[in-house]
Amino acid sequence: MRAIGRRIHTNRAVKEILLQSPVFQMAAKQFDEVADFLDLDDRLRERCKWPKRLITVTVPIRMDDGRTEIFFGHRVQHHLTRGAIKGGLRYHPSVDLGEITALALWMTWKCALLNLPFGGGKGGINCDPRTMSQGELERLTRRFTMEMIPFIGPEVDVMAPDMGTNEQTMAWMTDTYSTHSGHLVPSIVTGKPLNLQGSCGRTRATGHGVAFTASNSLHKRGYKVQGAKAIVQGFGNVGSHTAYTLDSYDALVIGVSDVGGAIWNDKGLPMDKLRKHVQKHGTILGFKESEPVDPQEILTRECDILAPCAIDRTITGENAPHLKCKVLAEGANGPTTPEADRIINERGDIFVIPDILCNAGGVTVSYFEWVQNLQHYSWTEREVLGKMEAMLQSAQARVTGFAKKNKLPQRSAAQAIAIETVAEAKSSRGLFP
Ligand code: NAD
Repeated sequence: MRAIGRRIHTNRAVKEILLQSPVFQMAAKQFDEVADFLDLDDRLRERCKWPKRLITVTVPIRMDDGRTEIFFGHRVQHHLTRGAIKGGLRYHPSVDLGEITALALWMTWKCALLNLPFGGGKGGINCDPRTMSQGELERLTRRFTMEMIPFIGPEVDVMAPDMGTNEQTMAWMTDTYSTHSGHLVPSIVTGKPLNLQGSCGRTRATGHGVAFTASNSLHKRGYKVQGAKAIVQGFGNVGSHTAYTLDSYDALVIGVSDVGGAIWNDKGLPMDKLRKHVQKHGTILGFKESEPVDPQEILTRECDILAPCAIDRTITGENAPHLKCKVLAEGANGPTTPEADRIINERGDIFVIPDILCNAGGVTVSYFEWVQNLQHYSWTEREVLGKMEAMLQSAQARVTGFAKKNKLPQRSAAQAIAIETVAEAKSSRGLFP
């Protein structure tokens, strides 16, 4: 009896931690609404909602000044029903179990929507990578990978870069796991450098997909992407490649922001020069052919494409009534709050490409990278991006078709397709024992 009592108590405690997180509340609300629409059976509903495994580890690191600092790292494996866990690893001061669990749910839906043979998960370490040296980041990554070894593997859980992590992080993870295994295991992560069997096109894949789905959406609404005006929030991996790809389509990227501020050029920011500026200075700020502007205010300036590509919850109940874009292309995960969603749906004049579709180019090419690693055979960038575009286009057509047929907003349609896919797989496998 005591053991059962303790177990119930633990369950409550974990649920309470998750339910107190604003980001998890957002994902849970989205799930509940879609589950109601699908009229999901109660038992299946709970199984689809709650994560299979929540793993939290302490990661002790020797800092450059000789101190030992303890970081908290999480890996949430939301579901494994349709294949290995797939999802990024985030280094950011906002990381907590609730945020990572919400991101894990979104990964599940993204993989299911694209019909990839993966479950969904997410990982993160609460730290500020901008204040840490390369040596500290390397020790943090290697120790976290060691702590994760019992829970990961090419057929179990395959991580990738996300906010605050990059190719180098993935290279350290590959080396740590491979050293432990005694041979190179490239399929343990995706988003690796090309010289460690990364995939052509992976670095730019997410941003390329954001620009591709945004351009498709404009086209379907009778507008041209050539000359279209775009504003991009965030200029890291996703934001910069969204901007570069839009520029390659002859769109005008008139405003971009990063954590330090925003810049503007009515005639379009020259992307080649901005790329060089960012490579040199690590920020968009101080770029000569632009004027500094308020990063919050640019979100509500007139444009054709607004692409939030930074953090979650930047399109809110406050700025949603003032948005003046035709297409909202969600490069970031969870950029639009439920309140903003309600306002945008009521307005009816903005076409939303929901995150699980808009930024799915990244996980799609991660899937290709994993397949190439398992087959020991590499594809050209043209093949990779061509296959990715075909998969995004087909998912986008399914979402718009489902939304039209069921009179649903684009986000609910995308989530409904995904959640139904996962629920059907769980039903087919049945409940063990
Ligand atoms: P990143 O760390 O490379 O870049 C993040 C960028 O956002 C930086 O330019 C940073 O300065 C900026 N930023 C942070 N806070 C900001 C704020 N308040 N206002 C404006 N800019 C701000 O991260 P990333 O990999 O580009 O990821 C960005 C988003 O895209 C995240 O939500 C991530 O989960 C999502 N995402 C990433 C990938 C991927 O392949 N990297 C795939 C799918 C989704």
